[in-house]
Amino acid sequence: MTTLDAAFAVTPQGILARVTVGISDGIITHISGDPTHDVIPNDADVLLPGFVDVHIHGGGGADTMDATPEALQTICRAHAKRGTTSLLATTITHGEAEIARALVNVADAIDAGAAFCHGGARIAGIHLEGPFIHPLRPGAQPKEHVRVPNHDEWLRHIEHSRGNIKRVTIAAEYAEARPIIEWCWKNNVTVTVGHTTIGGDQLAALLSEGPLDATHLFNAMDPIHHRKPGPVPTFLTHPNAMAELIADGHHVHPDVIKMAVAAAGPDHIMAITDAMAGMGQGDGDYVLGGHPVKVAGGKALLLDGTLAGSILGMSDAAANIAAWTCCDLISLAKMTSTNAADRIGRTDIGRIALGAKADFVRMQGGTTHNATIIGGVSIDI
Ligand SMILES: [Zn+2]
Repeated sequence: MTTLDAAFAVTPQGILARVTVGISDGIITHISGDPTHDVIPNDADVLLPGFVDVHIHGGGGADTMDATPEALQTICRAHAKRGTTSLLATTITHGEAEIARALVNVADAIDAGAAFCHGGARIAGIHLEGPFIHPLRPGAQPKEHVRVPNHDEWLRHIEHSRGNIKRVTIAAEYAEARPIIEWCWKNNVTVTVGHTTIGGDQLAALLSEGPLDATHLFNAMDPIHHRKPGPVPTFLTHPNAMAELIADGHHVHPDVIKMAVAAAGPDHIMAITDAMAGMGQGDGDYVLGGHPVKVAGGKALLLDGTLAGSILGMSDAAANIAAWTCCDLISLAKMTSTNAADRIGRTDIGRIALGAKADFVRMQGGTTHNATIIGGVSIDI
C-alpha cells in the first residue's frame, strides 16, 4: 500500500483535515482524518476527486474525430495536465462513416485498458453529440451533416461503439427522437438535450417520464426571456434534470453561471469544458467538424464568429466556478466530478471513497491546481 497525505480532503461525507489516503493497486483502500467544519485557508493543500468531464472533443492539437489511437492519447494527456482524470470522448455531427470510425477507435482504446495511455485521463466512454440535432441550432456542428433522428442509425452507432456510448446529445423535440430516448432510458445511456428548439412545456413533459440533461445549458437552445421562458428554467428547476455548463466566461457570462448554480443547486450542475483541439495549445488555426477554427484571446471561433467549443481545462473551470459562485468545496467537487460520474453510472470514480479509483487533484485553497493523480500515480503537469 502507498499513502498520500493532505491538509484537507473533500469526501462525500464532508471535509477531513490531516488526511492520509491509502492506495493499493490504484484503488483507495484506506481514508483517515478528522472531520472539520472550519473554513479552509486560501493557501491550504486540498485533495479533491479528480475531475470528470463528459464533454471533450479534443485537446493538445488532437480531435476525437481524428479516429486514431495517437489522437486519443494526446487528448487524454492534455486534459490530465489540467486535472481531468476521466472523460467521455465526444464526437461531432458528421457523416455516418466518419462517426463510425471515431466510435470504433474509442472502443478499441477502452478495450486496451489502463495500458492504452500512461499519464492520461481514463476514457470512461463516448458522448455522441449529434448528428440528430436541430438545423436551426447547430452552433459549430457542421450543418451539412445534421439529420432527423433515426433509430436504425442510432443502433448502428451503438454497435460500432460496442456499447461504449454513455451519453447522447439529441434534439428531443423531434417525434423521431422518441424511440431513441426510450432505448436510452432502458439501457442506461444518458439523454442530453441540446442543439435544440425544444420549449419548456415539451421538456417538462419528457422530464416527468425520466431523466434528461441539458447539453451546454444556454448554448444552442432558446434563451430565457421572462415572458417566453424557453427550456432553461425547466432544466434548472426540474428534479430529473442535470445541466452541463461551459465555465469559461465566454459561452455563458459569469453572472449567469452564478444564477444557474443558485437556481439548480450543486446537485444539478456539471461543469464541462466542451474543449476542442486548441485546448492546451497556443493561439492558431485548428479544425472542428471539418471546418476551420481560429483560436485567439481565449476563444475558439468559426470564421463567421460562432463559438466553436472551448480551450478550457477543468482546473480552470473549477477555479472559475469557485470564484463566480463562492460555493463551498463539497459543492465544487459535486459540480466538477461526482455528478458527472453518477450521470454515467460510475460510482467507482468522481469521489474520494473506499473502493473508488485513486484519482485526485491537489488544489491550493481549492482553486489553484497543483497536481493530478490517476490510479495513485502523479501525472507530470
Ligand atoms: Zn455542442
